[in-house]
Amino acid sequence: MMTPPAPTRRNGSRWPVAVLGATGAVGQTFVRMLADHPWFELCAVAASERSAGKPYREAARWLEGEMPPALAYAEVLPCDPDVVRPRIVFSALDATAAQDIEPMFARAGAVVLSNARSFRMEADVPLLVPEINPGHLSLLDEQRRARGWAGAIVTNPNCSTAVLTMALAPLHEAFGVRGLFVATLQAVSGAGYPGVPSLDILGNVIPFIGGEEEKIETETRKILGRLGNGGVTPAEMAISAHTNRVAVEHGHTVCASVAFDRRASVADALRAIEQWRGAAEARGLPTSPEIPLAYTDAPDRPQPRRDVALGGGMTVTVGRLRPDPVLHLRLVAMGHNTIRGAAGASLLNAELMAARGLLPEP
Ligand code: NAP
Repeated sequence: MMTPPAPTRRNGSRWPVAVLGATGAVGQTFVRMLADHPWFELCAVAASERSAGKPYREAARWLEGEMPPALAYAEVLPCDPDVVRPRIVFSALDATAAQDIEPMFARAGAVVLSNARSFRMEADVPLLVPEINPGHLSLLDEQRRARGWAGAIVTNPNCSTAVLTMALAPLHEAFGVRGLFVATLQAVSGAGYPGVPSLDILGNVIPFIGGEEEKIETETRKILGRLGNGGVTPAEMAISAHTNRVAVEHGHTVCASVAFDRRASVADALRAIEQWRGAAEARGLPTSPEIPLAYTDAPDRPQPRRDVALGGGMTVTVGRLRPDPVLHLRLVAMGHNTIRGAAGASLLNAELMAARGLLPEP
């Protein structure tokens, strides 16, 4: 696909950006994805006091591929808006740190694109998936009015919710999702680095991920909710979630049984999924995949090992669509947790904001 022209910079150069939490699993994914980004130039990396002052190659235990050489000797900065200068800031901070640090940056005039849970459910904070709810960006007017920030916080969903909502969006648009049971099988990279101890996870399944079931149940309703004058009215659907950590490197799998307001056959649902391309304004951005939601009719797919890299990690793959004897239909969805479920999602949010002229000039 041809890269679209950068939409708005006055002098035609790339937008300077920073990554907070740049040493962690998601932070490193940002660094990789920003290495040759056509619109954004990574100018600063920041992390905790433990890392600040060190060269990036010493502070980050690099997890995948080659560290971009330009960054190896860059000094890791503290997460202080007086020191981290770019006004576009990708946050891969631990949630406890994000709670204080992200508002500091927004107050100082930065647009913060956050992966942390800390602000996702605040009424005036967009929980954005560009293919599904780009209109929720208008919450920023209320956010600026109420908080008096020169900048802003825009969030993306938690990793399993990101996969689930992509699979549900076309079905909810076409038939109205009334309720669902969902069980996840979540990769170890979703727990960050160093994450889950190897003796806990090898040859094992851990049927608990702190806070994850609640996040799936609340974030899904907000993302699929309707924007009105008073903010987002959550979608009216009952959600029962079970979450499990499994010994997979990347890729969260979601098994869902779904009930609809208007009963749909397997053929109807398949057509809705295969025809869906998401909101028009999310297409053709540098990080948008050609096909955001793919369907596989192989009986034993999607599988993390075989399907996680589709669309550069931005495509969610659905399979095993079939009747459900308790609810109406059931399916399996799988997507890359640190790309579609984290760094790639934030990048796509920033690109949508750039295309709409919502990013600050440096
Ligand atoms: P991680 O590997 O544990 O990395 C956490 C990062 O936060 C590190 O760079 C760490 O810096 C920094 N940090 C921790 N405490 C800090 C403090 N007090 N001040 C400044 N920086 C601090 O975690 P992760 O998996 O990358 O996740 C990052 C965020 O994304 C979390 O909020 C997580 O819930 C969310 N998320 C993760 C995924 C996923 O698939 N992994 C998906 C969606 C969302 P040091 O190295 O200096 O300690």
